[in-house]
Amino acid sequence: MMLTELRDRIAFVADPRVVLVFVLALGIGSEFASGSTVQLWSFVLINVLIAQSINLLTGVAGQISLGHAAFLGIGAYTSALLMKTWGVPLPVALVAATLLSAAAGWLLSFAAGRVREFYLAMMTLGFGMIFYELVREWTAVTGGVAGLSGVPAPSLKTLSLNGYAMGPVAYFQFMLAVTAVVMWQLRNFQTSTYGRAFFAIHASEVAAGSIGVARVGTKREAYTISAALTGLAGGFYAHLVGYLGPESFGLHRSVEALVMAVVGGLGSLSGPVLGAIVFTYLPEKLQFFADWQFMVYGLLLMVSFVLLPKGLAGLLLPRSRYIKASAQTGAQKLADKNSGIRSPAAPVTSETSGAALLVAKDIGLSFLGLRALDGVTLEIRPGQIIGLVGPNGSGKSTLVNVISGIYRPGAGTVTFDGKPISGLFDHEVARLGVLRTFQDPRLVPAFTVRENVLLGMHRLYRQGRVAAALNLPSAHREEAEMLERVNEALALAGLTALADMPVKDLPYGDQRMTELSRVLVADPRVVLLDEPAAGLSEGELVRLADVIRVLKGRGVSVVLIEHHMDFLDDLVDDVVVLDAGKMIYQGGMEGMYRNPAVIAAYLGREGRPEVTHA
Ligand code: ADP
Ligand code: MG
Repeated sequence: MMLTELRDRIAFVADPRVVLVFVLALGIGSEFASGSTVQLWSFVLINVLIAQSINLLTGVAGQISLGHAAFLGIGAYTSALLMKTWGVPLPVALVAATLLSAAAGWLLSFAAGRVREFYLAMMTLGFGMIFYELVREWTAVTGGVAGLSGVPAPSLKTLSLNGYAMGPVAYFQFMLAVTAVVMWQLRNFQTSTYGRAFFAIHASEVAAGSIGVARVGTKREAYTISAALTGLAGGFYAHLVGYLGPESFGLHRSVEALVMAVVGGLGSLSGPVLGAIVFTYLPEKLQFFADWQFMVYGLLLMVSFVLLPKGLAGLLLPRSRYIKASAQTGAQKLADKNSGIRSPAAPVTSETSGAALLVAKDIGLSFLGLRALDGVTLEIRPGQIIGLVGPNGSGKSTLVNVISGIYRPGAGTVTFDGKPISGLFDHEVARLGVLRTFQDPRLVPAFTVRENVLLGMHRLYRQGRVAAALNLPSAHREEAEMLERVNEALALAGLTALADMPVKDLPYGDQRMTELSRVLVADPRVVLLDEPAAGLSEGELVRLADVIRVLKGRGVSVVLIEHHMDFLDDLVDDVVVLDAGKMIYQGGMEGMYRNPAVIAAYLGREGRPEVTHA
């Protein structure tokens, strides 16, 4: 409790205005500091960039790299050689270093699209090793083991910008300004839909796909941006030290980068800063550290994973925000202005209307010889609710997975709005407005209810990445509008009081309602609900039914998997009954109760299923 109080009390350090004052104070302070202090703080800045880069990749996007030293090296050698050999101006050399490293990260990311976890870690390790050997052997360019000296550097009085000689203090201030801008960009990114998509991929790739986030593209983006940041750090490093040798880019550097980010705290922007400060000071102040460095790093990694899973930042600072506070205020203003005059998003239709919107025809799918689905057909019109029932293991979830693009059907086709969708990826199906929930809720655990629901709107955002990164007024306005709609959905689902709670602290029923709201806000046209009532309280069941009726009222087609017949009686227009992958009944509820096949397979003589939730 005391720690929580302390954390709240120092929450102000993350305020952008406080950060700005701190940055200015550092810049001015460097004029009066000793040469060695300025040097040390210059290293802190470089380490901040490296740790942020690891954080973005690992802490935010959940991807692994054991070869980040290579990106540092690519940046360092690029900037050093461009300036030393061709006399390219410093800013151009640094931009080139950033871009070349980004390109390398982009290439490496193709591996991340194909392999995962352990194998990916090994691949990045291999990448780092190859780079290290390349630097040692390519003597003509890198100087080999003898290294590359004479790199323009402030300490040698050989670095200039725009014709002015740049001393160590001016170089520090230059790096400080650039790092501050980078941090501001990262902050905007983390609180934008693109940044939140990284967290979604981290938490569950399948869930991310279900809200329209492309997993391969997002991972590629994460590697590219992360490599760019470390490449920039490499450029800074080259000119700070004036000499590059292969030993600066070996495995220990990659490990050091990981340790900084992990011990500082993954998943937040302040964690990497804390990590960078600690791990620049420690080796400097503790001389014995040099000999035992690798061992100490190893120990710290082990200890922090066990004792401090969220690092120093998790211990000392309040949780990060993933929505801009200003956007939340904007949403409130919009709500006040619109109160009473707002109409529902789509025209209300009480009748089911028109031709079928979604048709899954003759679907077949086998898992290693097991016929999970065999000639199943499901048609649904706008505003229609279809109950999908059957014993456990009869293929209900599999049918939802086929429609939502997680599985390709072995036979048959799925069409939406007259166009085939059974060849599309799950995120492409989601972007069309065919949305689903999961049998076990899949949310971003560290996100609040509001942040999780906002994720559902990912497919509706119109702003580009640049507008998001610069936080342009148009992007800001859009964010406020999205949040206002999120607040409406939360009210409908009865989640308003819990909106700012991290979902991992909430009971199962609230998590289910959060996932349902994530679909509700996304302007769906078809909604597939996989046992949404499982584990809900009486009150929550009423809310669930309300939400489903609102969807119907908006003309949305709803497929509802459910075992409670009372719940279905009140809601559905028709039912489809599956048994062992085959469709044994299709039609109204009344007919179903009298159908011998359904009674035999599912309902029993009581007229109620003997199988309940697994
Ligand atoms: P339901 O949702 O109706 O309870 P499922 O669709 O989950 O049933 O499963 C239907 C059948 O397919 C079950 O026998 C299940 O074991 C099998 N199945 C589902 N997914 C897979 C999978 N990924 N690999 C192998 N078998 C699977
Ligand atoms: Mg199921």
